[in-house]
Amino acid sequence: MPKKNNYDEKDFVVVGAGVAGLSFAHTVLGEKSSTVIVERNDHVGGLARSFHYGDFVFDVGPKRFHTEDQEVLDFLFSILEEDYIVVGRSSAVHLFGRYFPWPLDHRALFRLPFKVMASSGLDLLRRQEPKDENSFTEYTRSRYGETLYRLFFKPYTEKFLQIPCEDVHVDWAKTGINRAVIDKRVKSDTLFDLVRSVLLPKPVDTKFLYPSYGGFGTFCDKLGEQVRGRGGEILLENTVTSLELGKGRIETVVLADGRRIRPDYLVWSGNFKALAHLIGEEPPPLRYLSTVLYNMEVNADVLQHEQWIYYGGQDTVLSRVSITNEMADYMAPEGKTGLCVEVTGFEGKGHWNDPEALIPEIQADLVRLKLVRSHSDFGGVHVERVRDTYPIYDLRYKENFAAASGMVKPFKNLKLLGRTGAYWYNNSDHSMKMALQMAKHLLKGTPMEAKEALFRV
Ligand SMILES: Cc1cc2nc3c(=O)[nH]c(=O)nc-3n(C[C@H](O)[C@H](O)[C@H](O)COP(=O)(O)OP(=O)(O)OC[C@H]3O[C@@H](n4cnc5c(N)ncnc54)[C@H](O)[C@@H]3O)c2cc1C
Repeated sequence: MPKKNNYDEKDFVVVGAGVAGLSFAHTVLGEKSSTVIVERNDHVGGLARSFHYGDFVFDVGPKRFHTEDQEVLDFLFSILEEDYIVVGRSSAVHLFGRYFPWPLDHRALFRLPFKVMASSGLDLLRRQEPKDENSFTEYTRSRYGETLYRLFFKPYTEKFLQIPCEDVHVDWAKTGINRAVIDKRVKSDTLFDLVRSVLLPKPVDTKFLYPSYGGFGTFCDKLGEQVRGRGGEILLENTVTSLELGKGRIETVVLADGRRIRPDYLVWSGNFKALAHLIGEEPPPLRYLSTVLYNMEVNADVLQHEQWIYYGGQDTVLSRVSITNEMADYMAPEGKTGLCVEVTGFEGKGHWNDPEALIPEIQADLVRLKLVRSHSDFGGVHVERVRDTYPIYDLRYKENFAAASGMVKPFKNLKLLGRTGAYWYNNSDHSMKMALQMAKHLLKGTPMEAKEALFRV
């Protein structure tokens, strides 16, 4: 309740009810700290939420939990309790007009066009070390050869990131390709490793955790309930409209609903640019990619049965499609299929402003690309605009983020957290880890690891 002097006092104000903000709040509330979370959306979960339409459930793209970090696993199990299933992985790539298993395996090798096999073979012999160690292009060419770079990595990356490959930082390749491959037993760090894995395949059986009902978002829904159960407040459809700045501190946080809160700490897991404006700074040119999701109900089975498929070709606007019921049966009613089509872009630009206009083209592509049997199979389409889905690692992203950190540093009680706040290409397990570490750091003074320690870049 507001006090006489017109403000509340809280130990923590957390901006963003995604995995990071919720995990942080859950942990500090466990230590009896008073905490309020401010979230601009009408639902908790951020990038890890799910959408429900009748009997269909959709996530934000393909989602599953995978970590080898015991602290994160313990946290995950403490929230999910018994409500999880263990699923295997199956993904594919659409190349040269066909579907191939991804990561490529021995079945794929013999189905590649002969010219591609031959020139990839020559690439192995011509391999050169990158001259510019920051360049995505040079790294990818050196690792996978000119042929695969030109036919897959370049068109896919440019379609996905919407910037020329020459402007992309090598960290995007190192993080993104590792993520796409994930199974460390299929070694694919270079074309040479890939060929070796292909010629001498070892059985691959990666397992992931997934909620046993309600989609990936069940994790955040349960976490949100527990945050509230521990006395935390989650203010949905709200945001910070101004900050009153003191000497080296954030004194007061003013919310859109008029509430004024004096926090010991302001923990920011939202878009950094909004924060920069609030502290009176012009944000450095950090760019966030956003995604329009076309969540499609299909009234029949489809022609592929992978959990997700990459589309590299410039002949289609699709970059990736997930088949929701391949992740868990309950995601679509029996005999029907859920397709989550991701089309990336920038907030306020192009198809973001009129996403419905793309539906006929996407449906025609899904039939042409032999994923959906016939146009008459399509049922309802639900369009969702999801902001800030990826921090873009362009060539200057490190300098730009250093400048951003420099703007925050003078405020001793202001902390950046999570994938969006810390502008770091986290998976949800990394956002949990960051949050657990930050909670211990702020409560007990335990040192925080650099975000670079979260995963290999
Ligand atoms: C397509 C896709 C597939 C993925 N697949 C996987 C996967 O398989 N496995 C996995 O572990 N991870 C996956 N991830 C990553 C995972 O979703 C994220 O790492 C995780 O959800 C990030 O959580 P976060 O809290 O750090 O950030 P976010 O989820 O971005 O949370 C930030 C929150 O802050 C809110 N916010 C922003 N600005 C403001 C503001 N000014 N005021 C108020 N609120 C604000 C946002 O609405 C959001 O809720 C995937 C991500 C994407 C996009």
